Amino acid sequence: QSPELQQMYDAHELLCKFYHHLLVNTKDGQEALEYLLKRGFTMESIEKYKIGYSLNSWDFVCKFLQKRKFPLDLMERAGLLIKRERDGNFFDRFRHRIMFPIHNEKGNIIAFSGRSLGEEDPKYLNSPETAIFNKSKTVFNFNRAKKHIKKEQRAVLFEGFADVIAADAAGVINGIATMGTSLTDEHVQLIRKSTDHVTICYDGDTAGIQAANRALDMLQSVGCNVRIAWLPEELDPDDYIKEYGAEKFKNEVIEASLTYMSFKMRYLRLGKRLNDEGERLRYIEEVLTEISRLTKAVERDHYLRQIASEFSLSLDALQQQQKQKFYSMQ
Ligand code: ATP
Ligand code: MN
Ligand code: MN
Ligand code: MN
Repeated sequence: QSPELQQMYDAHELLCKFYHHLLVNTKDGQEALEYLLKRGFTMESIEKYKIGYSLNSWDFVCKFLQKRKFPLDLMERAGLLIKRERDGNFFDRFRHRIMFPIHNEKGNIIAFSGRSLGEEDPKYLNSPETAIFNKSKTVFNFNRAKKHIKKEQRAVLFEGFADVIAADAAGVINGIATMGTSLTDEHVQLIRKSTDHVTICYDGDTAGIQAANRALDMLQSVGCNVRIAWLPEELDPDDYIKEYGAEKFKNEVIEASLTYMSFKMRYLRLGKRLNDEGERLRYIEEVLTEISRLTKAVERDHYLRQIASEFSLSLDALQQQQKQKFYSMQ
């Protein structure tokens, strides 16, 4: 381990403690703390995830690190400070934000994500890519959730880390999330190493459903057995838990999550008017393509029958067409 990298970890660790202290113990952090509690974060979650607050100051972190003999240019490379072009002086990257520490698989803090208290942009400000932080490889909460994922043989994948934290408080302790970026092959590899069962629980808005469809294909292609939770009313998991409570979230969202084909059928229906003949035929065509991807003959049969009965088609014709697709895909 190079001493520079170690100093980067140390600075994050130290700052995390201080941000947390500012949030829970000081008058400066009161507004942020009230915001979090009002949103439904519990003190327990705030402790567990070491959530903090960065002061509304341009040089607090700068002075804090300087006093502790951290070289400022190194701290700039760690993403904690920004160098001003004009005079070469350093100033704090994170100001007046709720601070979420981001850990690597080993549990070292490698980055922060800072949420604005109101609606000002950007909503979340992340550390930049650094020698210790690679966004496309980082899975939020993986360090804590890993043992639960292995034990339950299932990971629950969320879109935002507010969702991971809310779900954890609701009893879903095997939750993880990407860092705002879409799922990468590296994320998928990391997840696949610990389990081959994944429940995707993305936001219920159009963007979330589309991202879920993409994540489903990626996870499926590395041999994961995937289920997809479909949140109602465009809610995200965090909103849903706040609105309907933990029990309903577990029983009616997580436990009631859809299988691959049920999701695909619902997804392919979106925006189609199935009473229009052309759109109906297109839908059936697309569903047949999905059915052809299923490896189990019994499953193919099951869904073919379902389509046959829903659209009053002959099972024979559907089977024939599906077989053609199947062979053209080999
Ligand atoms: P909140 O509940 O605090 O509004 P969220 O998790 O619901 O947050 P989303 O808008 O659903 O936020 O975005 C999901 C994830 O995308 C966030 O957790 C964050 O990692 C990332 N993200 C959202 N907005 C931004 C942004 N402006 N810049 C960088 N990352 C962002
Ligand atoms: Mn979203
Ligand atoms: Mn969201
Ligand atoms: Mn949210």
